[in-house]
Amino acid sequence: MAETFDLVVIGAGPAGYTAAIRAAQLGMNVLCIDRYVGKDGHPSLGGTCLNVGCIPSKALLESSEHFARCRHDLGDHGITTGDVRIDVSAMLARKDRIVRDLAAGVATLFTRNGVRSRAGTGRLLPSMRVEIAPLPDGPTEIVDARHILIATGSVPRDIDSVSIDGRIIVDSTGALDFPTVPERLGLIGVGVIGLELGSVWRRLGSQVVLLEAMDTFLPGADEQIATAAMKEMSRQGLEVRLGARVLSARTGADSVEVTYEDTAGKHRTEFSRLVVAIGRRPNTRTLNVTEVGLLLDERGYIHVDEVCRTNLPNVYAVGDVVRGPMLAHKASEEGVMVVERITGQPTRVNYDAIPWVIYSSPEIAWVGKTERQLRAAARDYKIGVFPLSASGRARAMGATFGMTKVLADKRSDRILGVHIMAPMASEMIAEAVLAMEFGASTEDLQRTIHAHPSLAETTHEAALAADGRPLNVHG
Ligand code: FAD
Ligand code: NAD
Repeated sequence: MAETFDLVVIGAGPAGYTAAIRAAQLGMNVLCIDRYVGKDGHPSLGGTCLNVGCIPSKALLESSEHFARCRHDLGDHGITTGDVRIDVSAMLARKDRIVRDLAAGVATLFTRNGVRSRAGTGRLLPSMRVEIAPLPDGPTEIVDARHILIATGSVPRDIDSVSIDGRIIVDSTGALDFPTVPERLGLIGVGVIGLELGSVWRRLGSQVVLLEAMDTFLPGADEQIATAAMKEMSRQGLEVRLGARVLSARTGADSVEVTYEDTAGKHRTEFSRLVVAIGRRPNTRTLNVTEVGLLLDERGYIHVDEVCRTNLPNVYAVGDVVRGPMLAHKASEEGVMVVERITGQPTRVNYDAIPWVIYSSPEIAWVGKTERQLRAAARDYKIGVFPLSASGRARAMGATFGMTKVLADKRSDRILGVHIMAPMASEMIAEAVLAMEFGASTEDLQRTIHAHPSLAETTHEAALAADGRPLNVHG
């Protein structure tokens, strides 16, 4: 007889593994199935985020930032260095170690919390059953579930005109593992991945060109910040070509010739390596959606309501495989929401207070509305901007490029959005998220004491500036 679980989770990325742990904490008997196989050929928990996403990309950003700093910035501090070099294989090995340790950490968390896990592909069957095709190959197994949580994530999108060969033309996963620094690196797509991985290899010495189909740079970010970021990134050496439609990519022995078209006509350019980073698509192919009648939306995401219920009773879906931003923290909060609701708690995800971060240099982070969105909604809003150049801490750090910007409702003073371009903006944004979660006003931020000197003071000052009374800005 098939074993029965209170909850079967398919996928052990941030959405699935977090949900599995929370469900076990709440007393459920949980099985989590995941098919990801790491570089060493062994199953590895943690999904895209941990294996080939958030974590390895941040490890490389950190290494490359140290390298760039040693090369270019230390002289200003009176520090003399010799010939600074990068050992790419040591850098990649460090990244792989971090990934391996964290994936093993998820396995330990499962054991400690009593979550059962199986390496294999989960496939939905009718009547709340799930078939597991194990890894490595073996006889399939069937389990019964009282509840099913689909958390199968996403995979890179591809374009017809450019075929990925895994060596010269790669997706984001390949771009985390170039064995040497490509002399000239092309990236198709100026999204988050393009900017982050482009920054990594640029800092290590690549000449980087980014080709973006749209005419706008970072349309999701606040316009003022996007404009400043474009200028700064160009200054750093990232060459961004907007409105560029790639027509073909022809690989040679050790290079690729890309043809693209923009308003000026057709162009041909050669790269040593090319990365395709034009977004990701929901991963539903192995789930057997048609046979079980699971509804997808017009873009291929699993259709869910605001609390992640699918059209099938007791079947839920969370994370990248459903609508909303493809972010690890959105995925994990949805997972927690679903299992808490199964146990009768009224948990909800506040989709209006999800932070976004681009780990460029300086980092860009935001929460809530942009000015463009507020204008479109005809909201009457006020703006407070505080430049990093006026921050004592930023000056001491030698990082004066950037700003903190607060947008608030003109009448109620409620904060509607916060946008930051600063070192560690990823950390600074947490205060703004908390403020928005609590429905705070700019007055609340103004009356909150911020440590001096700190970058967080720029949020305090931006809140003061929203009422025309910043304390530490000249003229
Ligand atoms: P995933 O992490 O994709 O996990 C899904 C898991 O399900 C995978 O292990 C997959 O193998 C498994 N699976 C699929 N089908 C089956 C099946 N039928 N049976 C069993 N298992 C299955 N987000 C951030 O918030 N911050 C970042 O800094 C960040 N950086 C990123 C950098 C890169 C290069 C990339 C590619 C992504 C990055 N993201 C980042 C996005 C983030 O990785 C995703 O939003 C997040 O991983 C989504 O979590 P998930 O659990 O929904 O899916
Ligand atoms: P993205 O959606 O951020 O950017 C893709 C870009 O490619 C867009 O600007 C799009 O206009 C462009 N594009 C699409 N088709 C194109 C074409 N044919 N030619 C040229 N340009 C084209 O996607 P991404 O950068 O691939 O990242 C995927 C997902 O991963 C994102 O949704 C993001 O949320 C997530 N991610 C997040 C982080 C982070 O939170 N720091 C980091 C990396 C990835």
